[in-house]
Amino acid sequence: LRTLIVVLGDQLDMEAAAFDGFDPEQDRVWMAEVAEESSHVWSGKQRTALFLAAMRHFALALQAAGRPLHYTRLDAVQNAGSLGAQLQADIQRLKPARLVMTAPGDWRVLQAVKSVAAANGLPLDVREDRHFFASVREFAAHAKGRKSLRMEYFYREQRKRHRVLMGGDGASDEPEGGQWNFDSDNREAFGADGPGFVPPRACFEPDALTREVIALVNTRFAAHPGRLDSFAWPVTREQALQSLRAFIEDRLPLFGRYQDAIWPGDPWLYHAHLSAALNLKLLNPREVVAAAEAAYRCRQAPLASVEGFIRQILGWREYVRGIYWTQMPGYAERNLLDAQHRLPDWYWTGETDMACLRDALAQTLAHGYANHIQRLMVIGLYALMLGVQPQQVHAWFLAVYVDAVEWVELPNTLGMSQYADGGVMGSKPYVATGKYIQRMSPHCKNCRYDPGQRTGDSACPYTTLYWDFLMRHQGLLAKNPRMALQVKNLARLSDVEKQAVMERATALRREVQGAIGP
Ligand code: SF4
Repeated sequence: LRTLIVVLGDQLDMEAAAFDGFDPEQDRVWMAEVAEESSHVWSGKQRTALFLAAMRHFALALQAAGRPLHYTRLDAVQNAGSLGAQLQADIQRLKPARLVMTAPGDWRVLQAVKSVAAANGLPLDVREDRHFFASVREFAAHAKGRKSLRMEYFYREQRKRHRVLMGGDGASDEPEGGQWNFDSDNREAFGADGPGFVPPRACFEPDALTREVIALVNTRFAAHPGRLDSFAWPVTREQALQSLRAFIEDRLPLFGRYQDAIWPGDPWLYHAHLSAALNLKLLNPREVVAAAEAAYRCRQAPLASVEGFIRQILGWREYVRGIYWTQMPGYAERNLLDAQHRLPDWYWTGETDMACLRDALAQTLAHGYANHIQRLMVIGLYALMLGVQPQQVHAWFLAVYVDAVEWVELPNTLGMSQYADGGVMGSKPYVATGKYIQRMSPHCKNCRYDPGQRTGDSACPYTTLYWDFLMRHQGLLAKNPRMALQVKNLARLSDVEKQAVMERATALRREVQGAIGP
């Protein structure tokens, strides 16, 4: 055997660089389902099922395309349990002359494959992941010499370089509409009547192959979080393209306006829910961005919506990947605020009195999905202000979401949401009282807490913890110009009130001790 092409569960792209020069006479594709990928964090059932179902469907596509494949199923008798051990065993059997792979998304996985290659004296060719608009080298060049990094500048460079949403039908160096960012048009809540009819997401009834995976996950990972009765994710490229079309045609026009709105029982709303398909590489970001821009150019969607969506793909997604690969491995250990509390047990069950958090956690466990504002301003916000150790928050986010691969999840959680990286990802910690959640959702009406109270039995925990957070980190935050006003507001609290806030915050922390989970 000349070459073994290592294909991971999040590399399901027939056009990937690893296949360049593939010769079916001499080369073979290698894929393996291993328990380690579901146990190094306590992976949710939806996440594991999506990865396995998409891998098995991709294996069929490879066979149909005439690419010979060595595939190990999770339930195979000889399954070695980890990527490294399985690869090692298969190298002994297949005796390839070299290994080839597309650059993986996890630092941990890259190290594992490198060490197997080295142990066997095999050359390993790690090829550029051209799925992304920007290579890690290009990102590093952008970052070089800058005192601080900001997504906005990187995003503008990307827009110009790839001629996306530029004026003069793409010919000008000025942004379409004269502005790079239309977020000020994009922050509406639904109002008392709610969202009304929202065009539904594309759902896919599990076929026989996916049903087999669902049964396997339910047996093998029975104790893992979440459930699978609602599994409807796209698991093939065709289904992913159908999801893309449904979003562009039906929901993109109102995506921007309601991007930050929250509605009970409905995580889907006008969001795209394409992140899982993108991160498995079933979709290419170029086709996603092109489809969104085309909708604007054909006057099917307004510029504010289209720009807001494109910023997520061409800006944020590429930016977090650059941060991950230029900052790892030390990045995963950062803890700027020295947060040391344990993650509340009910993050794994959803059993809390806080209506907003209960709903966001229930949706997460049912679907492996919550929208970005629920993740940042409900789930992540609570952990940040409570003072949970960021590595525990990271392990939770990586475990429960179907779109969670470490390169994208870690900077979003540890950096953007928990501010543990000291401002590499965001220029300030995202902190707010319960009043923010009250403005963006109707949850507070059905909650036993009052977002306007910061102390007392009815005080909203978000509101208490917000003031407590400002007090605990006053010294650090006062130096940040974007936080100065919020810190200054602390002067409005009397010493007695401050003491009461601290006591209630301490009581909230005491409540979260316990033992559940991995
Ligand atoms: Fe959430 Fe506080 Fe509102 Fe309850 S009162 S729903 S905990 S923000």
